[in-house]
Amino acid sequence: MSSPQKVEVKKQHCENHQKCMEMIQAVLDGSASPEEMEHFKSHIDECLPCIEGYELEKSIKEGLRNKIERKCCPQKTIDLLKVKIGISLVTVGFLVVEIKLFKLFFLP
Ligand SMILES: [Zn+2]
Repeated sequence: MSSPQKVEVKKQHCENHQKCMEMIQAVLDGSASPEEMEHFKSHIDECLPCIEGYELEKSIKEGLRNKIERKCCPQKTIDLLKVKIGISLVTVGFLVVEIKLFKLFFLP
């Protein structure tokens, strides 16, 4: 394998942009394999359209994530609390029933 020369000037046009964007998506999703990560890192350094695509995708994803987190987290916490309270209420309820049954059967 011949070692690729370091290109100083970034490519203005990506001949494989569709493929590059798929790779970028995979990297951003965290589903890229180590090989893909390596290829991505070496490629992104020299490919201008892909750098721009990567930055764009990244900011969209981060913006989306922030929005979802801001919207969902408090509601999620409330739901979780409700469930927990519900479970403990049910547990207490069962306990009371058990004590009543116990008294009924075993106490004179
Ligand atoms: Zn590219």
